Amino acid sequence: MSEKLNLDDIDIDYWTFDLGGFTDNLYKEILIFNINKEDLLNENSDNLEEIGRIDAGDWDAFASILSQKEADLNKEEAELYTEELKEDDCDDCEEGCTCEYFINTTYLYCENQYVHSASSYDKEESY
Ligand SMILES: [Zn+2]
Repeated sequence: MSEKLNLDDIDIDYWTFDLGGFTDNLYKEILIFNINKEDLLNENSDNLEEIGRIDAGDWDAFASILSQKEADLNKEEAELYTEELKEDDCDDCEEGCTCEYFINTTYLYCENQYVHSASSYDKEESY
């Protein structure tokens, strides 16, 4: 059995940049990559395997690709992010505006373990 991955060994800045490049091209989408441990530790992103490309917010689909637990965790993160965005970005909106935020995220998993992710968002304004 392989040892559990120690995320302290990983160069997060590298992966933030790399995953961010993919996120830049997403529109209301979630992209999920798998990487093997060796490539992860060597910062080699040449062999990223796309294991999912789904609509932003489709956590059922996310769960079917990874697990319910991962889907729940990431859903929670995305909801917190959405709330923050709404607080900052809907400052000038009327109380109770119905602006919608779509969180684009590229996730990186290694041996079914979450490694890192990079997010952006698309906003649909409505007043
Ligand atoms: Zn708003």
